[in-house]
Amino acid sequence: MFRAPRGTHDVLPEEQPYWAQLRQAIQHLCATYGYDPIDVPTFEATELFARGVGQGTDIVEKEMYSFVDKGDEHITLRPEATAGIVRAYVEHGMARRPQPVKLYIMGSMFRYERPQAGRFREFHQFNFEAIGEADPALDAEVVAMAWQLYGDLGFTGLSLQLNSIGDPNCRPAYVERLVAYFEGVQDRLCNDCQGRLRRNPLRMLDCKNPNCQALAADAPRSVDHLCVPCAEHFAALRGYLEVADLPYTLNWRLVRGLDYYTRTVFEVWPPDAGSQGALGGGGRYDGLIEQIGGRPTPSIGFATGMERIVRHLRQERPEAPPLRPAPVLLAFVGAEARRLAFQLAQQLRSRGVAAACPYGDRSLKAQLRVASSQGAPYVAILGEDEIARGQLALKDMATGEQRDVPLAEALATLAALGR
Ligand code: AMP
Repeated sequence: MFRAPRGTHDVLPEEQPYWAQLRQAIQHLCATYGYDPIDVPTFEATELFARGVGQGTDIVEKEMYSFVDKGDEHITLRPEATAGIVRAYVEHGMARRPQPVKLYIMGSMFRYERPQAGRFREFHQFNFEAIGEADPALDAEVVAMAWQLYGDLGFTGLSLQLNSIGDPNCRPAYVERLVAYFEGVQDRLCNDCQGRLRRNPLRMLDCKNPNCQALAADAPRSVDHLCVPCAEHFAALRGYLEVADLPYTLNWRLVRGLDYYTRTVFEVWPPDAGSQGALGGGGRYDGLIEQIGGRPTPSIGFATGMERIVRHLRQERPEAPPLRPAPVLLAFVGAEARRLAFQLAQQLRSRGVAAACPYGDRSLKAQLRVASSQGAPYVAILGEDEIARGQLALKDMATGEQRDVPLAEALATLAALGR
């Protein structure tokens, strides 16, 4: 028997209402904040992610689904969406549009990770990006928008973690201090951090190893070493967050390891963040577009995993809301009635009214069971006697009441009920 590949999952119809609810909430949120949808390919040139996600990251080093296709192109299934979106921004000359260009996407991402609860190899992200603006008010708006999504979906007890990691002006001097500090305690670092000390020192701050965490507690903090423009940007952002009544926690250990990330980084954590990790994360990437061959373009974005949100929605509301209206059911007895029932069902559907007609050769009782299982509010019964009288019997399934409707009026009557 075939099974879905490890780390992938099927979204069966019974789970679809939660996905629909989430997509609707996202679309509404994006319209509210002025974001337009964009779709970009599921795969891109491997080099785009090597540059856009960054050599030295776990994603690029260990987690990409990369292959050489039959035309000898190096291809990778997208592990995240930002690289593709900024590639599209550059490729389509979107710098000529009014800035910032605000775009969002929902779709599959692929990472070769060790599957566990809430961690998949193919998963879905909602991702939004505001490209072409450096104003800290935009940072605050992006943070507020991310925060609102979870509030709109009924999450409680979340925390908003915020930090500034400076920019290429101030960060090198800060990283030097950080490396000097960790060199002093090098022999007590975990193996991974021994490597990070050279390759990606900022990432030592968010190492999960308890020893490293204890050592990081006394490490220099980026917020204490910002240059004046970065400090002003951060202060302005915090001011806007306060005006918007957004409760945030300053977290000086929140980092992104790559040079093109600048200034603002933030994450939204669930109450049990320790066991699950962030619900979503974002930040400024003023250096990214240059990195992939465009002009320097200040930008900021956010991504959140959709599976983790759906899991929460299911817990909150185990009884799934219906995805579609229950149909009017057309039951029949006998061959002529069967044809008539089919004809009526088609006439209703072609007018956009949900209608269903049982299949095969079932007793009327069995057909009524079909009606209950589909939640049909009304059943039209076409029996031989009724047809002979030019009538059908209309049964209200909620009250059990039944009345006759002339066949000539059947379509209009049923269509009105189906609305
Ligand atoms: P990242 O792009 O790594 O910052 O991830 C952003 C968000 O996507 C995370 O906070 C998770 O909610 C979600 N996410 C990342 N990786 C996975 C995965 N392997 N499976 C499910 N969700 C994921």
